[in-house]
Amino acid sequence: MSGIWVWLEQFQGQVPSVSWEALGVARRLAEAMAGPVTAVLLGHGVAARAEEAIAMGADMVRVAEHPDLADFRLEPYLAVLAPMVAEAQPQAVLLGGTARGRELVGGLAAELGTAALMDVIEVSVEDGRIMAVRPIYEGKLFARVTVERGPALLAIRGRAFPKPEPDPSRRGEVIAVPVDLEASGFPTEVLEWIPEAAGEIPLNEARIVVGGGRGVGGPEGFEPLRELARALGAALGATRAVVDAGWIPYKYQVGQTGKTISPDLYIACGISGAIQHLSGLRGVKVIVAINKDPEAPIFKVARYGVVDDLFKIVPALTAELRRRGLAKV
Ligand code: FAD
Repeated sequence: MSGIWVWLEQFQGQVPSVSWEALGVARRLAEAMAGPVTAVLLGHGVAARAEEAIAMGADMVRVAEHPDLADFRLEPYLAVLAPMVAEAQPQAVLLGGTARGRELVGGLAAELGTAALMDVIEVSVEDGRIMAVRPIYEGKLFARVTVERGPALLAIRGRAFPKPEPDPSRRGEVIAVPVDLEASGFPTEVLEWIPEAAGEIPLNEARIVVGGGRGVGGPEGFEPLRELARALGAALGATRAVVDAGWIPYKYQVGQTGKTISPDLYIACGISGAIQHLSGLRGVKVIVAINKDPEAPIFKVARYGVVDDLFKIVPALTAELRRRGLAKV
């Protein structure tokens, strides 16, 4: 076994930041273990990304191109990636912990008979073995884990690791991997992509998130939060209570049964701070809470708190950002 592999996720040719962050982690591990970093790119018409992967830290890029790989689907991706990993036997395969990455890493673990570590927030090499840290019990504890039988499969948390700076002078090798999927007949098909609202920042990539809970009072109550988010260049988040109420779609949900986020700043508006919501906030650096109830549990985890009506405070914040010329839009 040698070397560290990274699956570079791509959607319509765009690689998410967390894949580059995974490549940065792989570079560090490979240096500690004196092995190469191999990036794996699956898609159709994505080969141009290979040079970028080398600049970002890969020594080698394996590019598998096929029309069936154009859109992410578990079955064809697994059919191509699992045999590649089984044959090369790298010490570890790193993936970004996105919805696709988490799906793929589980499938890979099943195919390869090894373990998948989710939501990894620290990685090191100790006595020649990869050691990962990941939260357990809703983030109440952190487990240090290693995988006895490789390859270790690690889905890393977005924004838990720095994105490497590109170095255009780096040189590496690009290998085209032959793909034979003609007769496979996969059970799923991508019919269409429904674009998100233009200009929205994805929750797991955002540096600032403005979260709304039941305190917003209804779907229209999110409007001042959207305004603030736009002014800050922030993403919008929500609690399950408001998602279940149908006030906002599920993709905004943060928490145990939603997304785990790691922004520098989270502004919680009308959110009580239930443990299931807080478990999605473990990676947040600073929490600011705005809540009418001084006893709300969110104040126990917030660095700054405002005990007041969010409909008074949130528009005032937006107005102040604008007045000081700090608003993005
Ligand atoms: P509430 O608890 O009702 O809080 C609303 C808050 O708004 C109150 O504190 C109130 O004082 C304040 N408020 C009201 N009006 C105003 C105003 N005008 N200005 C300022 N403040 C105001 N929850 C999640 O969020 N994410 C999850 O992933 C999740 N998963 C779950 C999984 C399981 C198995 C279970 C059982 C629950 C899960 N929950 C999850 C639900 C969780 O337990 C809470 O019910 C939920 O987080 C509460 O949402 P909330 O804070 O919006 O609502």
